Amino acid sequence: MHAEDCFACNLDVTDRLLASLPSFSSLRSTLLASKSAYNVFNARPLHILSEVAYNHIGPALPQALRLVRSYDAQKRPKVVPSEEECVENSRITWEEAQLLAHVNKIICGLEDLFSFREKDRTSRTSQLTSQESTRFQRAVYRIWLFSVLYGNARLTGCEQESHNFVQEPALAFLSAFSTTELREIERVARFLKRAVASAVENTENYELTIDSILTCGPPCILTAAARKAHMPDKAHLSSGRRGFLTDTLHQIWVERGVRPTWHFAGAGVLLDSVNGAKDRCARCNAVKGLSLFNPTNWDLLGAYVAPVETKLQQLGLIETEPSELPPPPRALVSYPEYMDAIYGMRDRDAYKSWQRDDWMCTRCVEEAVMVHLPAWWAQQ
Ligand SMILES: [Zn+2]
Repeated sequence: MHAEDCFACNLDVTDRLLASLPSFSSLRSTLLASKSAYNVFNARPLHILSEVAYNHIGPALPQALRLVRSYDAQKRPKVVPSEEECVENSRITWEEAQLLAHVNKIICGLEDLFSFREKDRTSRTSQLTSQESTRFQRAVYRIWLFSVLYGNARLTGCEQESHNFVQEPALAFLSAFSTTELREIERVARFLKRAVASAVENTENYELTIDSILTCGPPCILTAAARKAHMPDKAHLSSGRRGFLTDTLHQIWVERGVRPTWHFAGAGVLLDSVNGAKDRCARCNAVKGLSLFNPTNWDLLGAYVAPVETKLQQLGLIETEPSELPPPPRALVSYPEYMDAIYGMRDRDAYKSWQRDDWMCTRCVEEAVMVHLPAWWAQQ
C-alpha cells in the first residue's frame, strides 16, 4: 500500500499520527512524503506543531519557548514573555519550531557533557533520568535567556559589542525563580564554567575567560568545551562581566538568608544519584566515584592533574617555561596520548598489574605520570 493511502484513510487518525511524531524533522519528512498528511496538517498546523514540539523538546518546552520568543524576526532581543505566558500560548509556528530544534540541539550537547562529567563517567551520551534531564535543561534555557538579556549571547554565538550590565532588571529576572530553581541554575552555571576551564587551561586569558564565559551563553560554551574553536576574544569578555550571573545569585542568597549552593558542594541539587559513586581505584582501592580515569575519559585529566610540561619542570628535566618548549614534545603531551605512551612502556615491576582499562584515581594517575616521565622524556 502506498504511504499516501495510509494517511488518506482517516483524517482523525492522520491528525493523531502527525501529533505523535517525535521530532520536527520527522514531521517535515512525513509532510513531504504524503499529500494527504500535508492537507491534514494544513487544517490544524499550530495545534500539531505544538504537540510535536512537546515530543521533541520535552517538559522544558515553556523555558525553550520563552527563549526563542525573546527574539524578533532579526533575532534581536525583544519584550520577554513569562514562562506562564508561554504555557498559555503553546501554539507554535514553523519559524519557532526551527529555532526550538536549533536551541535544543545545543542543550542536548551540553547535557551529554554534564552527564559524562557529573553523572556517569563511562558514557558520553546523557544518562540523566527524565527528571534530572528536565531540571538540567530548564536551568540551561534560563541561563541562556539571562545571557541574552544581560550579556552578549545570541541564538548562535555571541555579539561583538558588549552592553552595560544592568543589575536591577537582572536581579528581578532571577528573583522570579524559587530557591530550588536558583540552586539548579547555580549548579549548572558552575558546571558550564568548569567545562570551559578544562578546555582552555594555560591560555593567556584563562582567568578572564572562565569568569566571563557565562556572558557569552551556551552556544559559545559548548563550542569552547568541545575544543572545536578558539575562545571568544578579549573584546567579548570585558572585565565588567566578572561575576556575571553568580554575583546576582549571591545577592539573592543574602536577601533570602540562604547559603550559596557551593557551601554544600551542590549535593542533592539537580541530580538524584551519581552512577558509580562508590567505585574504587583499581590501584589503591580508594572509593573515588567520578574522580576515576581510564581511556574513556583521559581527555578530562587536564582539569585534575597539572600539565605534563609542569611535571617535567618539577623533575628538573626541563628548565624553560612551558611556553618556550620546542614544538615536537609539546605536541606529544596531551594526556590521552601521554597515558597511552606510558602504558606502552610501563614499568614491568611496579606496574605489572596495570590493565589499560583500569580506572585509577588522580593520585595514582599522577604517580604513574611521574614514575614514567624520565624514561618517556628520554625518548622524545
Ligand atoms: Zn588510586
